[in-house]
Amino acid sequence: MTAVAEDPNDWDAATRLIRGGLNRSSHGEMAEALYLTQSFAYDTAESADARFSGADTGFIYARYGSPTVKMFEDRLALLEGAQACRATASGMAAVHLALTGLVKAGDHVVSAKALFGSCRWILNTWAPRFGVETTLVDAPDLAAWRAAARPNTRLFFLESPANPLLEICDIAGVCALAREIGAKVVVDNVFATPIYQSPLKLGADVVVYSATKHIDGQGRVMGGAILGDAALLDDAYKDFARHTGPAISPFNAWILLKGLETLDLRVRRQTQTAAALVDQIAHHPRVKATRYPTRPDHPQYEIAQRQMTGGSTLIAFDVGTRAAAFRFLNALEIVDISNNLGDAKSMATHPSTTTHRSMTQEQRLEIGLTDGWVRVSVGLEGEADLARDVGRALDGLLANEL
Ligand SMILES: *Cc1c(COP(=O)(O)O)cnc(C)c1O
Repeated sequence: MTAVAEDPNDWDAATRLIRGGLNRSSHGEMAEALYLTQSFAYDTAESADARFSGADTGFIYARYGSPTVKMFEDRLALLEGAQACRATASGMAAVHLALTGLVKAGDHVVSAKALFGSCRWILNTWAPRFGVETTLVDAPDLAAWRAAARPNTRLFFLESPANPLLEICDIAGVCALAREIGAKVVVDNVFATPIYQSPLKLGADVVVYSATKHIDGQGRVMGGAILGDAALLDDAYKDFARHTGPAISPFNAWILLKGLETLDLRVRRQTQTAAALVDQIAHHPRVKATRYPTRPDHPQYEIAQRQMTGGSTLIAFDVGTRAAAFRFLNALEIVDISNNLGDAKSMATHPSTTTHRSMTQEQRLEIGLTDGWVRVSVGLEGEADLARDVGRALDGLLANEL
């Protein structure tokens, strides 16, 4: 065969997800090989010397990297349009590495208030032990980011859409401000997925994922990833990751690599169902409010239109009280009660008593999370079945004054 003219960077997302990073062994296997090995043998002492010196870029030890993990990293990097990717054992390992690799004692961080609970714990509880302070801001308010910045601000962190109420923040606006003051921007892009939002193109320095969510998409394994510029990933994270060991198992990387093949299909189908479901929910007399990025009643609808190319597989809605939310969840027959998201199986959760229970009531109110809110992660079941299940559970609230 003559040299291939195809440039993977020109491919559609769907093709990148199937073909990106593929590195076949001499056996020519169709499915990506799973290299379940801790270490690698060298032909000669000289070749070991060359690997350790960096003159030969081959693998050394699975804590540093391994072939199946690299295929996953290369495929995700190609999809994201990033120069480099580092996979981690979980989304939180990725967030921890991404944040702490960019700061040192005496530095200051500005972060969105509405965050995944463990991300907030790292900034509020863990980082101060190492002399890093964080100011939390109302993320959609650009002036609040500017006001919070100090001479020692080195890092901005945000999640958009954010957990659990799908609050959206102007990523390009925050990145422009960060550039002005010489701070880096890390974006947690889990809710948007790489299918609907590309933070690097909006000016972010680093994107993080919990691959546990849509990238697996079938509720099996944990994983995470950090993406960005190759030099930045090398500088900020390479030694840190090698010596502290948040490496992903090759088995989990293999599952996630196969998960990527169907990511585009799954996310689009789940979104289509979610969009139909949220319209039905919004019209129900017991529902006080909904949050969904492509609905004009979303408070940051215009920003969503500008920076996202699609909606979400997640829906949030307010049924007024905790008792009503619990009654709704308990009446579901198809949708599971579970705090995970992005799975092929639909699930619903009550954020204020589960994912966000470690926040004080006051902190929850600051992000608008009252006790009546329910979050649904829409899966791949038939739309009519989910509509019937959710509709019946909402109708069950009509008979009861809660
Ligand atoms: C789940 C999640 C994480 C953490 O990922 P794990 O894989 O559970 O460690 C971080 N950020 C967001 C937005 C998440 O939804």
